[in-house]
Amino acid sequence: MDCIFCKIVAGEIPSVKVYEDDSVLAFMDINPLNNGHLLIIPKAHAATIHEISEADFLAVMSATHRLAAAVREALNPDGINLLQLNGKAANQVVPHLHVHIVPRWSGDGLTVSQWNLVSGDMERIKGVAEQIQKALK
Ligand code: AMP
Ligand code: ZN
Repeated sequence: MDCIFCKIVAGEIPSVKVYEDDSVLAFMDINPLNNGHLLIIPKAHAATIHEISEADFLAVMSATHRLAAAVREALNPDGINLLQLNGKAANQVVPHLHVHIVPRWSGDGLTVSQWNLVSGDMERIKGVAEQIQKALK
């Protein structure tokens, strides 16, 4: 398969690995948003949250939890952003699921998590909550 992250898993493309187990690999992002920016991926190819198995997703999140603690220990950031993008409309560029760990320092000027907060229409919010609850399996 022509997937850049599968090639990293297979060792066909070099990467700076920081963690590996049977189902997960973590490596440094080569275009870091900040010092310590790393990616956690499942070894089995899955494009997005909709394709990955629950077990593999939990393994990725478990590794993310451990790596976030290691990043805090090693780099002492003021905060950490976890980013996980699904689909082109969500700005996903590499279609192999990955979680970003982005260490943050006060005043670092990054805008990865700036949203404009605008009050929502409560009726619309309640309506969409009902739609989602009905679809819960
Ligand atoms: P996105 O799909 O938008 O969540 O982001 C893909 C991320 O993968 C970007 O932050 C890239 O810098 C990163 N990336 C792409 N190719 C490589 C690679 N060969 N090694 C490490 N990181 C990569
Ligand atoms: Zn892949």
